[in-house]
Amino acid sequence: MRILVSADMEGATGTVLPDDVIAGTDRYERALRLMLGDVNAAVAGFAAAGADEIVVNDSHCSMANLPLAELDPRAELVIGRHKPLGMMELIDTGVDAVAMVGYHMGAGRPGVLAHTCLSHTTLDVRVDGRQVDEGGFNALVAAEAGVPVVLVTGDDVLCAASRQWAPRARTVTVKRALSRHSAICRPPAATAADITAAARQAAALAGAGPAAPAPHTVEVDVDYPYLAVRASSIPGVRAIAERTVAFDAPDAASALRTFGIVVGVLSSGRERDWT
Ligand SMILES: [Zn+2]
Repeated sequence: MRILVSADMEGATGTVLPDDVIAGTDRYERALRLMLGDVNAAVAGFAAAGADEIVVNDSHCSMANLPLAELDPRAELVIGRHKPLGMMELIDTGVDAVAMVGYHMGAGRPGVLAHTCLSHTTLDVRVDGRQVDEGGFNALVAAEAGVPVVLVTGDDVLCAASRQWAPRARTVTVKRALSRHSAICRPPAATAADITAAARQAAALAGAGPAAPAPHTVEVDVDYPYLAVRASSIPGVRAIAERTVAFDAPDAASALRTFGIVVGVLSSGRERDWT
């Protein structure tokens, strides 16, 4: 059994403030230990269930956060960015299940540190007219590859929302959102035990048939018209409203890859804030 663990930071145990997830801050250094604890707890559970290959894909920001030396030795770690499928890299290599650890709600939604890829600029993302967060988008790609989402960890809002895109997954609520930047947090000793237990049970959900690739239309709302203009210069991306761009893709993986380009262009094109 091969397990992919896609690990983000905003939904990790104890992360609530921007400084928790921005490298170089004191809070980040502390939060990194909490993220690592969640990941190692999941690895322990999958290993106990008999997984013989567990790969952790560092999926936050630089995608080079987790300290390799402290990763559970039963897993391997994907370090670094510029991966075509981003948070879902390796999903198309014959893995039997994927775990989404430390995930969070999408832009414009309730939940701790809610955002979609960028902490700014993106206001909403829809696939085929349906609002998606990162988990929902990634779940489409996983389904297309025949890989079930078996474990989701994050705040209470995310765990409830994941019923829409991963109805069979085990969920572990590591904090209860009070606002985008405050939460009632469970300590790592409690969340780690729950994540390990959930991962162990989740392994039984591994294995699924691939879904037929299907075309998708992706729409992205941004906060300023100039950014829609900029993104619409990407071949195949069109502005459909002052602050909305759209593009078509032949399948979910292509949609995710193109979305990554749109996000990159939006991020690099954003002018400095001022008051
Ligand atoms: Zn992140």
